[in-house]
Amino acid sequence: MKAAVAYEYGGPLSIDEVEKPDPGHDEVSIQIETAGLCHTDIHAVHGDWPAKPKMPLIPGHEGVGIVERAGSSVTNVKEGDRVALPWLAYACGSCEHCISGRETLCLQQENAGYTIDGSYAEYARGFGKYVNKVPDGVDPIDAAPLTCAGVTTYKAVKESEARSSELVVVFGIGGLGHLAVQYARIAGATVAAVDLVDKKLELAKELGATYTFNPKHDDVVEELQKMGGAHAAISTAVSPKAFEQAYQSLRRGGRLVFVGLPAENHIQLPIFETVLQGLTIKGSIVGTRRDLDEVFQLHADGHTTVLRETRTLDTVNESFDDVMHSRMEKPRIVFDFRSN
Ligand code: NAD
Ligand code: ZN
Ligand code: ZN
Repeated sequence: MKAAVAYEYGGPLSIDEVEKPDPGHDEVSIQIETAGLCHTDIHAVHGDWPAKPKMPLIPGHEGVGIVERAGSSVTNVKEGDRVALPWLAYACGSCEHCISGRETLCLQQENAGYTIDGSYAEYARGFGKYVNKVPDGVDPIDAAPLTCAGVTTYKAVKESEARSSELVVVFGIGGLGHLAVQYARIAGATVAAVDLVDKKLELAKELGATYTFNPKHDDVVEELQKMGGAHAAISTAVSPKAFEQAYQSLRRGGRLVFVGLPAENHIQLPIFETVLQGLTIKGSIVGTRRDLDEVFQLHADGHTTVLRETRTLDTVNESFDDVMHSRMEKPRIVFDFRSN
């Protein structure tokens, strides 16, 4: 089968013929229809984070496709079902995190396109219990970005505890951020969007943001503080600076949710102001299988719009470059295997 393979950190991906996965008794093999390009895939190939991915690596954790073969003990999906293959490819199911609805914290977890091969391939292997059914009526091109960008920001908005009448600011209006704006609106909040690219801010407006700011020509912190400060800030930006600005944008009692994972891993925050202003800082990592079901349901019911453009897998290297330089027409690139 054809796959995009990284052989060394920072090196280009090559489109190679590799062996098709052979599913074990609790696994499925999925014929991939669509695979989203998440910025995490770029961090993975670059080896940006303290925990490094396997090499060689087939990236991709926004895979959607049809179950081609299901192992003998797989009961929740069957051959012919359309499923999504998310970042949380496996969890143990029995540790304190798994049994308390926080499976994304499981220490035994496997991650698609990071610790195991992912969906930049004609076929991918998944664990039966950790693939989600994609409901009828959800276009597989939309389902791909929802599988990571969607579930991650849906969960982040839950973690932000955003409520109606509150002001929520989203930093970074890329693949993740354009969906974060919509989930914050669904929670009833008034939304401010921040990005360095004006075109992304125009899209944020179309998706329901009331205010937009570009730190290149606006003093974001001052503008938000003039409005009383944000009740919650969600940072999906790939820049530590944005996290500091998000913190400074909060009002007293405000909540800051860290979502983006820039290669530069540290920021400086003041202890005194955090304590005196009663601020909360939370990290939010993807979402559970249940969260992803909810994301698909919202989309099937017409509550969300996925802004994406399709390409073929052969464009993977230039697509990585385009994401790093925000040169796409739409916030998310989806590789469509059906057009190869
Ligand atoms: P993306 O490249 O599509 O979007 C990032 C956006 O941030 C871009 O629009 C860019 O213009 C903007 N940006 C960069 N610097 C900025 C700044 N200083 N201020 C405001 N905006 C700025 O990337 P993505 O796919 O949306 O992913 C975003 C980040 O989230 C990545 O680091 C990714 O690894 C991470 N991520 C985290 C989780 C999680 O579970 N926490 C899940 C998926 C992705
Ligand atoms: Zn992702
Ligand atoms: Zn576990």
